[in-house]
Amino acid sequence: MKETVNKNITLALSKGRIFEDTLPLLEEAGIKVSESPEKSRKLIIQTSDPNLRILILRASDVPTYVQYGAADLGIAGKDVLIEHSAQQPGGLYQPIDLNIARCRLAVAVRKDFNYKDVVKQGSRLRVATKYIQSTREHFAAKGVHIDLIKLYGSMELAPLVGLADAIVDVVSTGDTLKANGLVAVEDIMPISSRLVVNQASLKNRGVFLQPLLDAFSRATNLHE
Ligand code: AMP
Repeated sequence: MKETVNKNITLALSKGRIFEDTLPLLEEAGIKVSESPEKSRKLIIQTSDPNLRILILRASDVPTYVQYGAADLGIAGKDVLIEHSAQQPGGLYQPIDLNIARCRLAVAVRKDFNYKDVVKQGSRLRVATKYIQSTREHFAAKGVHIDLIKLYGSMELAPLVGLADAIVDVVSTGDTLKANGLVAVEDIMPISSRLVVNQASLKNRGVFLQPLLDAFSRATNLHE
């Protein structure tokens, strides 16, 4: 009996900037997405291509779904991918920097906190973040001792209520920091989103994935 090949492709995305910035890339591949995850609340969204569906996930779960093959490919920020690979190394192929959802990972403190002096004096710094790996590497490279406090969100609050001296977070316009009386004092790295692909999907069903990968590649070059 002839084996039937599964042509269906599952793309994992997160809501917000990554979803919005991915729509023009899909359009480049002639694919339209009829529903907005913000409005419909659906977690599986169909597209104009009957073989392509989209999963709406929390950003930090995107690499996990792709690594375990529940999604063939996904789009995730470099910030998220660094943390993921520290926890669950291997299994992900990262073919394209899509240059979307750009921002930067930065250290921020209260406006009245003298970061430079504290760092110069060699005092310990309490740093709250969800980006444990990047934060550890950044301060280790500077030779600054830190106490790391793991948070899952609303990092800006930590310095305001005395939980931490500094935070490490992604910053785009800087409006959120400003609204909370914080300032960015050091950039750690520029961040953009990358396409990640499940290695087995690429090996076994690469022929179905390739047109989408090519379209993403073309669209990324066009939008640069
Ligand atoms: P901002 O534009 O700096 O006020 O950013 C608003 C909030 O959105 C910040 O708290 C960030 O955590 C988050 N944010 C901004 N840009 C991104 C991005 N590209 N990916 C994920 N989160 C982001």
